[in-house]
Parts: sequence; structure tokens; C-alpha cells
Amino acid sequence: MRFFGTMRDENGVLSIGGIKVTELAQRYGTPLYIMDQELIEENMRKYKENFRSEKFKTQIVYASKAFLAKAMCQLVERYDMDIDAVSGGELYTIKASGIDMQRVHMHGNNKSIDELEMCVEYGIGSIIIDNELEIDNLSEVCKRKEKKIKALLRINIGIDAHTHEYIKTSKHSSKFGESIFDEKIVDIVEKIVKDKNIEFLGFHCHIGSQIFDTKAFHEGIETMILETKRISKLLGVKIPEINLGGGFGVYYTENDVEVDIENFMRSMIEHLEASLEKYNLDIEKVSIEPGRSIVGNAGSTLYTVGGVKQTYGGIKYMFIDGGMTDNIRPALYQAEYEATIANRLDGEEKEVVTVAGKCCESGDLIIKEKALPKAERGDLLLVSTTGAYGYSMSSNYNKIVRPAVVFVKNGKCSLAIRRESLEDLVKNDLAIEL
Ligand SMILES: *Cc1c(COP(=O)(O)O)cnc(C)c1O
Repeated sequence: MRFFGTMRDENGVLSIGGIKVTELAQRYGTPLYIMDQELIEENMRKYKENFRSEKFKTQIVYASKAFLAKAMCQLVERYDMDIDAVSGGELYTIKASGIDMQRVHMHGNNKSIDELEMCVEYGIGSIIIDNELEIDNLSEVCKRKEKKIKALLRINIGIDAHTHEYIKTSKHSSKFGESIFDEKIVDIVEKIVKDKNIEFLGFHCHIGSQIFDTKAFHEGIETMILETKRISKLLGVKIPEINLGGGFGVYYTENDVEVDIENFMRSMIEHLEASLEKYNLDIEKVSIEPGRSIVGNAGSTLYTVGGVKQTYGGIKYMFIDGGMTDNIRPALYQAEYEATIANRLDGEEKEVVTVAGKCCESGDLIIKEKALPKAERGDLLLVSTTGAYGYSMSSNYNKIVRPAVVFVKNGKCSLAIRRESLEDLVKNDLAIEL
């Protein structure tokens, strides 16, 4: 397993943030999500320091769906970043963290009236209008509340980023955004521009997730600039902002060549500056929305091994005390992970195993047939790069409680989300009265 951030080998025991995982397991139990705070902060700093220009303002918007907790909102504010939300629940969580709501930007392809009302009442920074259907609803809510709102329009720029089919969002029939190839796009923009309750800021795009091919992003920059220029000219209006979305790929296994944040951010800025000059376009602000690349490698999941079962058919299973309820990605996207036996890093003997969870699903697997150090009941298995889309996609299937999330840094740990209790599992259940 590749080590990230502050991971160290301390006499055969893995430590993160200066604390041995054996100690964390004792203190908080397993399964446990461990977040390397120093690595999260380093990633945030890399974005802030390298996605910067003297020609226009820039902002890094953390895509909260990757991992949202009040603790993340604290860090977002500390690094002068913004944050996005896609649902009333995410908006509520961010609001509950106490950060300035001007930092918040709301997405969603089917925002409810309640959610639109929350956006307007909370006074968020901007809303990203997904499609034509939303304009009237938003305008009416603003009128009723006597408040204006700033808005971008999400456009589908048709870039086919090479990634897994289910997380590709920018094809012509995507459920997200309005296609720039559709002639009605000009009328849609005009409708927003003319609306007295909405202040139109510009365009947003997001071409997919876990993308390694940086050419796709460069193509995105070019298309966004040309489209902004074309529509601004056609309608005779100034369009001050563009938002280029997120989706920068991270390392999960040796099949992945991660995007180097520092180099890539600098190359994006150079491209933006050159193209804005070449096409003679005046843009005031450019934003990006990284999620996975800020928290992915910084998070790990620690499990206790229940034993190793040799099947008659040949597959050898390593049983762990979690599974698809804390990490659905292998079952959902055939995602791959690396892992190690974290309490015995010096274990030299290896065996090919399939790591299986506790759920009543044969597909409840975290790792399929890979060589891992030999383990027995009571050992600790650490799966790396689970910081993004792990906790946020977790479930209570089989009434399994969600694990705790602990932040570690400089030899200290701080619980960010408590482990769910058994009472939590029935807190919304009522006896029926029929
Ligand atoms: C999911 C998403 C992101 C972040 O994607 P990552 O792959 O986590 O960087 C950014 N913007 C939008 C609109 C998204 O839906």
C-alpha cells in the first residue's frame, strides 16, 4: 500500500498524524474513518497558492459531497475557500457549522421549492441554475422573499472525459446542465439576464469525476471561454465569471496516475490567461470545484479482521467488520483500493485474498483477489484513499451503524463525527396505530 501524507511505519505499526492506528482503534473502535488533517490542509494550500492570477480573481470551491462534516466547513473557512451543496441537507449541515453563507454555492438538477427558499433565506453566495425549468421557480421564490440572488448557469459542453460511465456527466444527454449545442441556450441566458430577481454571473461546467486526462480540462477551458464570448456578444451583456467544476483524479491503485495539483493548477492558470487575451475576453473571476482531490488520499478506513475463510471453490475471504455500508464504491463502480495490515507492517508473508464485508450481499467486497500480508482474527486492516465518497455514501443497510470519523494531526486526535448508536437506528421508527 502506498503511504500518503503523514503515514509512517513506527516499528511495524502504521501511524497517521503521529498517532498509531492501534491506539486509534482502541480509543474509538472499528470500523473507523481516519482523516489526516495535515494532508487535507496541504491540498487546500496547494490549490489556493497555485490557482491564482493577477489578471482575474480566483476561488476554490470545495465540493462538499465528497465528504461533509462541520469540521470540513471549519477548514474551508480557515483556508478562505468556498463550498458547494447539492441538497437541502448539505445546505443545512453547512449552515449548522456556522461559516459565512456567502461562501456557499448551490447545485442540483432538481432543486425543490423548499431548497430554493433555503438558498434565498440563508443568503448564499450563488446558485447554479441547472436548467430552464428552474428559472421561474427561483425568480418567484426571490420575489416572494424580496431578495435577489446571484446565479450561474450550468452548461453541458459535451466533453467526453474518459472515466467510469456512471460518473460521466457531460455527454449530450446528461441530466445536468443545458447543452451549448442547443440553440435555445441563448434564450435561456437571456431569460436569466432579464430577470429582475436574479443577477447573472456566468457559466458553470463540470465534465466528470476521477479524470486523469488533463487535456479534457484544457479543452473545457477553451470551450468555456469561447462560449462565454459568443453569448456575451450575441446578447450584448458582460459575463463576469466562469466556474470550471472539479473532477481531478487521485491515486487509488497503481493503475492511476494522479493529477499533480500544483503543476496542473499552474498550467490551467497559464492557459486561462493566454486564452482570455487571445480571444480578448474580460473575465473577473474563475472558480474551480475540487472534492475528491482534497480529501480522497487524506482519508483511510480502519477495520478489524474477523478471520480468513478458505472456500471450497478456491477464493479466500478476509472478513472485516465493515464493508459496503461504509464504502459502496467497489460495488457501485468496481472501484479498486489498496490496503495493508496496519498493526503488523513487517508481516512478510503474503496471500491472495478477497476482502469481504458483513452485509447480506455477495457483492459486498472492498478488494478483489489481491496479495495482502497474511492476517488473522484481531488484526487491523487499513484501506487507503477512502476520504472521498466513503462516509458521504455510507448507509445503514443491514442496520449497521455508521462508523466514527476522527481527524488526526501532530500527535493529537479530534473526533469529527461520532459513531452512530443503536438508538440512532430506531430514533425515527414509530409503532403503527392501525
Ligand atoms: C461532484 C462534483 C464536483 C467534485 O468532483 P470531484 O471528482 O470530487 O472533484 C464538482 N462540481 C460538481 C458540480 C460536482 O457535481
